[in-house]
Amino acid sequence: MTGMEAALVAVGSELLGADRSDTNSSRLAAALAGQGVAVRRRAIVGDDEAAIAGEVARAVAEGIDLLILSGGLGPTADDVTREGVAMALARGLEERPEILADIAARFEGLGLRMPEVNRRQARIMAGAEVLPNRRGTAPGQRLAAGKLTLFLFPAVPDELEGMIEEHLVPWLAERGGGEAREMAVLKVACLPESAVEERIGPFYEAFGREGLTVLASAGEIQLRLTAAGSPDGRRRWLAPRLARLRELLGERIFADRPEVSLEGVVGDLLRRAGASLATAESCTGGLLAERLTRVPGASDYFLGSVVSYSDRLKIDLLGIPAELLAREGAVSAEVARAMASAARRLLGADLGVALTGVAGPGGGSAAKPVGTVHLAIAGPGEALEHRHLRFPGDRERIRWLASQWALDRIRRGPLARRAAAGAAGGEEVPAG
Ligand code: ATP
Ligand code: MG
Repeated sequence: MTGMEAALVAVGSELLGADRSDTNSSRLAAALAGQGVAVRRRAIVGDDEAAIAGEVARAVAEGIDLLILSGGLGPTADDVTREGVAMALARGLEERPEILADIAARFEGLGLRMPEVNRRQARIMAGAEVLPNRRGTAPGQRLAAGKLTLFLFPAVPDELEGMIEEHLVPWLAERGGGEAREMAVLKVACLPESAVEERIGPFYEAFGREGLTVLASAGEIQLRLTAAGSPDGRRRWLAPRLARLRELLGERIFADRPEVSLEGVVGDLLRRAGASLATAESCTGGLLAERLTRVPGASDYFLGSVVSYSDRLKIDLLGIPAELLAREGAVSAEVARAMASAARRLLGADLGVALTGVAGPGGGSAAKPVGTVHLAIAGPGEALEHRHLRFPGDRERIRWLASQWALDRIRRGPLARRAAAGAAGGEEVPAG
């Protein structure tokens, strides 16, 4: 069914406001792209039966092949997606006893009686296929109406994810989808977008810009290559392009899968090196430790952190000489080095990492403006490296970038030396 066209409707009054964005439709769009289905329209409507019905009518009128609605399948009175779709297509809704039993059993499993309102979730449109939802109570539904196929999915992102994998992708794959696409990803840390652009200039000269997307976020750039065509054709297209990008960016690339994080890569390197790590943090307040411990199994290599935010704790806990603090200030190369050494020694780690800086908005001076951060890494052995960094942006961004630079230096510094992998490090270019 090449050339299938889809429309996405996110249902939820909270999505119309300022504080919730519709990430579900983005997730659905990605799944559709993977199957070669073009998205023609995306809409957001409130929990409003007439508005939902209107979207269905519009899809029918426009000759859309596939309409996917997410949300509004809950048990409460404001969950009216079933009713809105049924109204637009003039279908009846009937309560299915086996689904009701299923929902009741879920509640029993939690030691609860099913509230009466949950009956609504067992209401299925005439002619619809029930799509079991293993992660929640609201089942999905699939329904054919002439040329149009509708999917009704729950909105809780984790439940939606399950529905996409179990019910949407297999259904599309069975239909042959459209022209399949394949994406290859390279993730680069701690290089500004312009520096990445400059480095990959030769790639553009050789291959042009088509099929390459550069996505920047704070301290991280994702390069995405999207190939279309037959599996063979995609491989032939991707291989030389990936190889060239790898050549041009070298050790700046830390991952080639979208789900791999910088902290995960650092963790793997530490585990492989059999090295342990401890941190002493000031301006980041434990953010570096928090990121390191996001990774399951971090206890294999991460020992802990001293969040020495005050001078007193730098002195009392870490043993930084008061005289040094008074002379150089807490935000200084000397104090960062002393903190890193203390973390290493006191916590008994192979590597000690320290961050101290001015995150702002106040506290800056001409000599030490907001964004000034000192990063030091002690170990292995006598090694003691220090970086004086200057980050742009607000407090949150500065703190994030500090943690990002620390992770990347651990990756490319001591661990790269240990793993004896990759070429020598390039120059430091701090920027957002
Ligand atoms: P369901 O169909 O799963 O029962 P619902 O609409 O009844 O969904 P809500 O309580 O409204 O359930 O939403 C469940 C959660 O999913 C909420 O935290 C909500 O903010 C989130 N959510 C709803 N729609 C979207 C969306 N389009 N993108 C991302 N998150 C969403
Ligand atoms: Mg909702």
